[in-house]
Amino acid sequence: MHITKKLAQAHAEGRPTYSFEYFPPKTAQGVQNLYDRMDRMHGFGPAFIDVTWGAGGRMSHLTCEMVKVAQSAYGLETCMHLTCTDMAQSKIDGALDEAYKAGCTNILALRGDPPREKEKWEQSEGTAFRYAKDLIKYIKEKYGNHFDIGVAGYPEGCDAETDADAHIPYLKEKIDAGGTFVLAQMSYDVDIFIDWVKKCRQAGIPENVPIIPGVMPIQTYDSFLRRAKWTQCRVPKHWLEQLEPIKNDDAQVREVGKDLVAEFCRKLLDSGTTMHLHFYTMNLAASTRMVLDELSVAPAADSHNPDLKPLPWRQSLGFNRRDENVRPIFWRNRKQSYVARTQDWDEFPNGRWGDSRSPAFGSLDAYGIGLKGTNEHNRKLWGEPKTAQQVAELFVGYMSGKVESLPWSEAPISSEADSLRQDLIDLNSRGLLTINSQPAVDGAKSSHTTYGWGPKNGYVYQKAYLEVLIHPAILPKLIERMEEKEEITYYAVNHSGELKTNVSSDGGPNAVTWGVFPGKEIVQPTIVETVSFLAWRDEFYHLGLEWSKCYDEATESRRLIREIAESWYLVNIVDNDYRDSRGIFPLFDGLRVDGVDVKTKPITNGDANGFVARTRDGTSIADTETGQNIAKNADHASEKLSEAANTAGAKVKEAANTASDKTKEVADSASAKAKETASSANAKANDAAGSAKAKANDTADSTKAKANDATSGTTTSTSGSTTEHSATSVDKVTEETETVADQTVAPAVEHDTIKREHETRDRDVVEKEIHKDHYHTTIQPLKDTEVQATEHEFEQAPTEYRSVEKDDGAAEAKVAKKLAGFHDSVKEEETKETHAQDETVVGEHVHHHLHEIIQPVIEKGKEVIQRSVTHVTHPIKETVHEKSDDHGVTKAKPISVEEFKHRLDGEAATEVNPDKPAP
Ligand SMILES: Cc1cc2nc3c(=O)[nH]c(=O)nc-3n(C[C@H](O)[C@H](O)[C@H](O)COP(=O)(O)OP(=O)(O)OC[C@H]3O[C@@H](n4cnc5c(N)ncnc54)[C@H](O)[C@@H]3O)c2cc1C
Repeated sequence: MHITKKLAQAHAEGRPTYSFEYFPPKTAQGVQNLYDRMDRMHGFGPAFIDVTWGAGGRMSHLTCEMVKVAQSAYGLETCMHLTCTDMAQSKIDGALDEAYKAGCTNILALRGDPPREKEKWEQSEGTAFRYAKDLIKYIKEKYGNHFDIGVAGYPEGCDAETDADAHIPYLKEKIDAGGTFVLAQMSYDVDIFIDWVKKCRQAGIPENVPIIPGVMPIQTYDSFLRRAKWTQCRVPKHWLEQLEPIKNDDAQVREVGKDLVAEFCRKLLDSGTTMHLHFYTMNLAASTRMVLDELSVAPAADSHNPDLKPLPWRQSLGFNRRDENVRPIFWRNRKQSYVARTQDWDEFPNGRWGDSRSPAFGSLDAYGIGLKGTNEHNRKLWGEPKTAQQVAELFVGYMSGKVESLPWSEAPISSEADSLRQDLIDLNSRGLLTINSQPAVDGAKSSHTTYGWGPKNGYVYQKAYLEVLIHPAILPKLIERMEEKEEITYYAVNHSGELKTNVSSDGGPNAVTWGVFPGKEIVQPTIVETVSFLAWRDEFYHLGLEWSKCYDEATESRRLIREIAESWYLVNIVDNDYRDSRGIFPLFDGLRVDGVDVKTKPITNGDANGFVARTRDGTSIADTETGQNIAKNADHASEKLSEAANTAGAKVKEAANTASDKTKEVADSASAKAKETASSANAKANDAAGSAKAKANDTADSTKAKANDATSGTTTSTSGSTTEHSATSVDKVTEETETVADQTVAPAVEHDTIKREHETRDRDVVEKEIHKDHYHTTIQPLKDTEVQATEHEFEQAPTEYRSVEKDDGAAEAKVAKKLAGFHDSVKEEETKETHAQDETVVGEHVHHHLHEIIQPVIEKGKEVIQRSVTHVTHPIKETVHEKSDDHGVTKAKPISVEEFKHRLDGEAATEVNPDKPAP
């Protein structure tokens, strides 16, 4: 959603808003820690967060990545800073594209700081933009109104130009170019800021463009001064006067700083200049939280904000996911991996999870799906269990809030499990390892602090749900019991995919949470169904095996965890009778993994609320309007009682300690005083519980009973301390004091020491710009044939003489026959002279040229064909003896013999016409 729209909506309802700025950390561990922090700070209720952009695009990939994760995995409305100078335009295009695809709709368009190595800003050669306004225009051209575009403002000047007024026309230009809100550089002086805003408005920046002050909470004196100097912002004199004397005491600086910054914010809000505060968090949570608490603007931990929790699970604001409104329950403790595995779904635009029978769950290898943390870190967290008993102890530790995560639950156990906690501890202490659960809720108000979600004045419902990892030997008995109860539906599956269920194969999703709201359809946001359970099974066992790999190959821990992951069954159970809050746990009565028996103490501290008592007593969580009040009263009573017990206990202890030196009288008096305090606290608790409505008497009674339990020796914790002391019961300690005084031995006190181990893990992430050329040759065969001029080589073969005999001799015979008729006779006639020109005889030479072409085809490069032809001339002298023609007899003109002889020597004597066929 556009920031301006979001702010306008809240401000129209009179709600002030605020936002948090983060920057990309330098180490991988820092990034992970920041994500965890951003996730937690989501609960502070920011209207949006923003992520800075490194000068010249340094670490820009991380900015894009953080925007994507914040937007999609943590559901935070995110604004990406983007600078436009000292960077190739392709980088700007890439960043805008990534922001768009991450579902981000807000950009803070900036010129950018000069890179560290440059003293002041100069436009680099080849960069497309000179001022932020150029970038704004570019974004508008490319993306239209998709992005809400924020711009930077400087109440006390920018760069070398310290005259803030001189910048105002340029600020106006940025708004005219398409900027829709102004984020101001940090300031600490209210008057300067208010005055500057007035001038901006006078310069024509419209009222509907929010001008947002930048607020830097104070962490330490040095960092406060450094930042103020760097941004050239004026620090009011009285601030320095208050902070300077305590500058070496960080805690005090933060405390006083909180008051000063809160005062600055309050004045701004009261002035009507702004209804939004922008916090430069410096990636830290505490000091920002302190200011918000001081201003009383953040949602109280025990209040329900429908904006923050429109559904029972955190919505993703990733690309196309804003309308997603149904999820399987299995990923409740692993929201990031659910988002990662479903990021390619295209079904969210329909507002529904789509056809659950064809979901394309992404691969298990995708980033963010595996086990978090290093092996060493995880071994520290989960120990090195070698027996099922030790695994059960680990799970009991998690259920009791002593272990902060499990392989399948990334966060500490939530308050929603409070009402089931004792049951969960019981199951785990018997080796029945619980993975996920929710209690039955029969119409809690949608504003309920624990179970509530969605719009105001609605009611929410839940079916009881339990997911548990079961030893295969226990499964048959459990299934037998589940099959006997009609209202129970279940699925059981193991690592190899063997599925047992009593849900018919064509059964659709089973809604396990739903809400009824004024003027709306019933909303059913959480479901259980087959296909997604099988996808969860893959992830579940994958995580189990990853856990086993945290231990070295040959270790017992590795073998044990692997065996559990490979052979135990993951079972999910829904009690469809949502009015029966105790339907599931009795199924496990008497079941236990062989040899597992973890000794646990009943929960007494911190659980003294109406819900625990009531659900354990078998009453459903209904009519919670009353229940909530009762819970509050009971909580309050219990808190007071515990406080009184602590004070009394401490006093007794003090008295008893001095009793060894002083007289028994002193101890007696201390004891009496303690008794008095305790009984007064008790009375107060009873009053509070007694004022609870009659309908919830059982709750109040139970609470009171627990409170009384607390006074009879149960451990309570001192808040805010890292070491937890036992707050010994008032009455009992008084008695002990007496005994101790007699024996002059100090009273026995229990010191439960909670050792909180916190490890800060640093990992250097070196951002190297590595240039490596990668060459790849694509072979493109080209049919390029160059036919070179044919080389002709001429050879003369020896002449072959051929004789073709076509004459069959018939003509000769005929002539001979005719000649035979001629015999000597003398008839002297006159010689007739003729002359004939015989036809020229042409010698015909037929030459056949055989061309044998050898064309080498070279596949590499250009194909060059050198064609050579050897012409071999075979001279053939062919004498063709054609068929003789008989041209008949022609009587020649008589000539003399001499003449005839002479003719025979060379002259033709007969006229022969070759064209005229012979007769
Ligand atoms: C809320 C906020 C967030 C910031 N986040 C980042 C960040 O993430 N990364 C980062 O590198 N820096 C960041 N900065 C710093 C910012 O980039 C620098 O202050 C930079 O020097 C100015 O950027 P701009 O967007 O205000 O530039 P512009 O508005 O373009 O102004 C740049 C300078 O040019 C002047 N100018 C503007 N237009 C004209 C004109 N037409 N003719 C002549 N002069 C003109 C201005 O007065 C100013 O001196 C941030 C600053 C603020 C206030």
